[in-house]
Amino acid sequence: MKSVKVAVIGGGAAGVGVGVTLKHFGFDDYVVLEKDEIGSSFLQWPEEMRMITPSFQANQFGIKDLNAVTLNTSPGFTLQTEHPTGPQYADYLKDVAAFHELPVAEGVDIQEIEKKDGKFVLEASDEVVKADYVIWACGEAQHPNKEAFPGARHCMHNIEADSWKEFSEGRGEAFVIGGYESGLDAAINLSRNGVEVTVIDGERPWARDHVDPSVSVSPYTMERFMQEADNGRIELLKEDVEEVRRTGDGYIVETECEEFISDSRPVAATGFKGSTSETDLFGHENGSPVLTEKDESTETEGLFLVGPELKHGEAIFCFIYKFRKRFPVVVEEIARREGRDVEEAVEKYREVGMYLDDLEECCEDICRC
Ligand SMILES: Cc1cc2nc3c(=O)[nH]c(=O)nc-3n(C[C@H](O)[C@H](O)[C@H](O)COP(=O)(O)OP(=O)(O)OC[C@H]3O[C@@H](n4cnc5c(N)ncnc54)[C@H](O)[C@@H]3O)c2cc1C
Repeated sequence: MKSVKVAVIGGGAAGVGVGVTLKHFGFDDYVVLEKDEIGSSFLQWPEEMRMITPSFQANQFGIKDLNAVTLNTSPGFTLQTEHPTGPQYADYLKDVAAFHELPVAEGVDIQEIEKKDGKFVLEASDEVVKADYVIWACGEAQHPNKEAFPGARHCMHNIEADSWKEFSEGRGEAFVIGGYESGLDAAINLSRNGVEVTVIDGERPWARDHVDPSVSVSPYTMERFMQEADNGRIELLKEDVEEVRRTGDGYIVETECEEFISDSRPVAATGFKGSTSETDLFGHENGSPVLTEKDESTETEGLFLVGPELKHGEAIFCFIYKFRKRFPVVVEEIARREGRDVEEAVEKYREVGMYLDDLEECCEDICRC
C-alpha cells in the first residue's frame, strides 16, 4: 500500500495545475491519481469544439494566458493557437506534467474513499493509496446531466458527439435542447453542415446580459453565432421542454406550447452534474458542494476541492482562469497545517495574479464604455 501526504484525484486541468502548485510550495510526497490519462476529458470533446476562452502569451507583461494552469506557461505559445481543441489542450497538460516531472499515476480509477484513523484510504481496483489530505480534481465533463427533463436519456448529450460533421450526415434538421455555450456551439456546427437547427431553452441564455461569462454567452460563441445566423438555419425558441419520447423510428420533443416530431436523435446540451454529486464526502446546497473559505469539504476534514465545481456565493469558478487562482489557497492551507513556511510561495503566486483569497474581489462590475 502506497502512503503519501497528499493525494490529488484527477489529472485534468485542475489536477495538473494543483500538482504543480504543490511542488512550488515544497511538497514532494504526493501523487496525482488519474483513471485514464492526463487530460482525458479534453480528449472526449467533439472534434470541432474549441476552448471559448482565448489563449495569448502576454505573460512577459504580467498578464497570464487565460487557459494556463501554471505560473509561467501559455497554451497559446505552446500550441500556437488561440482557441485550442480538446486534444491540443490535453497535449499542453501532458507537456506541463512532463516538464515538472509530476508524480502522476495513470490508469488508477479511485472507486472508494474512506477515512480511517485520521487517514484517507483510496481504493482503485488493484491499488490502495493512503493519504493525510485529498484534493478532489475529478471535474464535471465526465458527468453529463442526463436528467434535466423526462426522457432526456433518449437524447444524445452534446459531450457524446464525436464530430458534428458526422452527426450531420443524412440529417435535414435537428433539435438542440439547451441554449447556453454548448447548445449554441452544437447549433453553429450543425448549421455549418447544412442542418436546420431548432434550439429550445425556456431560460433564453443566449439573451442574458451579464458581465460574467459564467452567466452569459462568451464573445467567441456570440460572434460565431451571429455569423452563422445570417444563413437562416438556426431558430431560437424560448420554451421549456417538458418531455422527449420515442415514437417508431423518431422522437417527439414536447414543450410547454407545442410538439415537434424529429427523425434524428435530439441533442441535450443540458450541462453537467459534477463529480462531487456522486459522493457523500461533500455536502451540497442548491446543486453546489458546500465548502469552507479554504475550499475544504464541510463534511470531511482534510478533503479539498479544486476545479469548475467551486462556487462561493456570486463567485462561480467554472473557467480555468478563475479556478486556478484557488490552487495556492488550498495548498497554502495544507502547508500551514503541516507547519511549513508558505510566505515565499504565496508571494510568487500573488505577484502574477494567481492567488485569490478575497472572494469579493472577483465580482466587481466593469464598464461597457
Ligand atoms: C464542454 C466544456 C467546455 C469547456 N470549455 C472551457 C473553456 O473554453 N475555457 C475554460 O476555461 N473552461 C472550459 N470548460 C471548463 C472545464 O471544466 C475546465 O476547462 C476543465 O476541464 C476542468 O478541469 P478539471 O481538471 O477539473 O476536470 P477534467 O479536465 O474533467 O479532469 C478530471 C480528471 O479526473 C479524472 N477522474 C475522474 N474521476 C476519477 C477517479 N475516480 N479516479 C481517478 N481519476 C478520476 C478524469 O479522468 C479526468 O482526467 C469547459 C468544460 C466543458 C465540459
